Amino acid sequence: MPDSNPAPPPPPRHAPQRPLDHESFRALGRLMVDFIADYWRDIESRPVLPSTKPGDVRAALPPHAPLNPDVGDYGPVLADLERIILPALTHWQHPGFHAFFPANISTPAVLGEILAAGLGVQGMLWQTSPACTELETHVMDWMADLLGLPESFTSRSVRGGGVIHGTASEATLVAMVAARHRVRSMHSAGQPPHFTLYASDQAHSSLVKAAMIAGLADNPEDRRHVRLVPTAPDLSMDIQALEKMVREDLDAGRSPTMVHATVGTTGSTAFDPLGRIADVLDRTGASARGSWLHADAAHAGSAMICPEFRHLQSGVERADSYCFNPHKWLLTNFDCDCFFTRDRKALTASLSVTPEYLRNPGSETGAVIDYRDWQVPLGRRFRALKLWLVLRHFGVSGLREYIRGHVRMAEWFESHVRADRRFELSAPRLMNLVCFRLVPKPGQDADELNRALLTRLNASGRVYLTHTVLPARGRTPARYVLRFCVGTTTTTAEHVYAAWELIDREAAALLG
Ligand code: PLP
Repeated sequence: MPDSNPAPPPPPRHAPQRPLDHESFRALGRLMVDFIADYWRDIESRPVLPSTKPGDVRAALPPHAPLNPDVGDYGPVLADLERIILPALTHWQHPGFHAFFPANISTPAVLGEILAAGLGVQGMLWQTSPACTELETHVMDWMADLLGLPESFTSRSVRGGGVIHGTASEATLVAMVAARHRVRSMHSAGQPPHFTLYASDQAHSSLVKAAMIAGLADNPEDRRHVRLVPTAPDLSMDIQALEKMVREDLDAGRSPTMVHATVGTTGSTAFDPLGRIADVLDRTGASARGSWLHADAAHAGSAMICPEFRHLQSGVERADSYCFNPHKWLLTNFDCDCFFTRDRKALTASLSVTPEYLRNPGSETGAVIDYRDWQVPLGRRFRALKLWLVLRHFGVSGLREYIRGHVRMAEWFESHVRADRRFELSAPRLMNLVCFRLVPKPGQDADELNRALLTRLNASGRVYLTHTVLPARGRTPARYVLRFCVGTTTTTAEHVYAAWELIDREAAALLG
């Protein structure tokens, strides 16, 4: 009999390759960085929009995943990127990109993404990576200060603080769920509340989508819970109309739950008056019943780092939550939505569920933030890294100069629209978005004319603009207008000048 048990056999080998081979990562990383740097350098030589037809990309790819490794020395991968992928991209970083709102990137933000991917941590709990949580809390306090937000939105306050969500749509959903919780908890016993939500007819569609996800709307047209408030001539929320709706709902026993105010609408960058909205909620007694005011500053919020724009969101200190997307206009790669609230208890009360396996000493102390309770998913990326690098790389002064530069270019563009009698300015320009259109000659259809102008401009390959339809006003019917947004990282005054020359030429060709 042997005196001791034999050593157990080693665990079976299952990974023939080393997925984290640091030496090959070093070499391949250089290759990829070079590829991206060349892409940035040469981006202007590409048309902004692809001419891809549906199915083109898939037809160029093998029908099945490779059974064996297929990357070679990565030369074939780069070749496929060049041959199949890049020609089928809309080049969002092209200096002629003036469509939608921009999707900013920058060197420090891309480096931050590499760091987050390489460190590969999950930050759902403080305990699962303390630095992931604490850097985020700290950077969000920096951001709150930078935007001139009140102390109550920072982690220094008793009930407030900030968190990074993926998108403004998620922020709206989270605010709505918190609002519903607060209103329900303040509702006197009896029938469950009939929740109602309010947003201007110019608010982003993510409000209605959030209502559908939260079970407050069955479909996009469902108005049992979602009230779309008409807008004033400047396209901001009509406050009298809001007050009437809130009063009617209260009189009918319904529970005004959330006003979703927009700080810079998607169509024309109109600003809903936050202070006056808060007055309505106070005056009608809706606030006393828990109504929540959420401010969606997805695009325009970035400009609030410049004090001269902050009057556009005056009253923000009375909002319950506020969000903006550095991934739109603050040099930070998607995804990055900064969400601030002054009632984090309502958030955690509505979003916290703790299964046994997530219990841990850190959370038990109550002294830490567990961001999983502030968001929809459990897992979370280390997004604060990229924002931290952006703030350190450019400094506040560099970021302010960046925003001001775009606004100046948009002002210049606006001045040319105003000075040219063939065009009209279709909405007030308050920031970096100009809404304009060609004035038709007698007998010409205005919408068709402007659709034709947009088609010609985008076919040039040198610019990309998008359109919107502004609502009818008095005797003026709804109008199809072009949007020219100056916000892409690479856009300079020369590009805006060249875009105006192109618009001038195409307009001349169309008007004859
Ligand atoms: N809110 C406004 C005002 C927007 O302009 C947009 C997008 O342009 C959104 C929300 C949606 O943003 P996200 O893609 O981050 O959900």
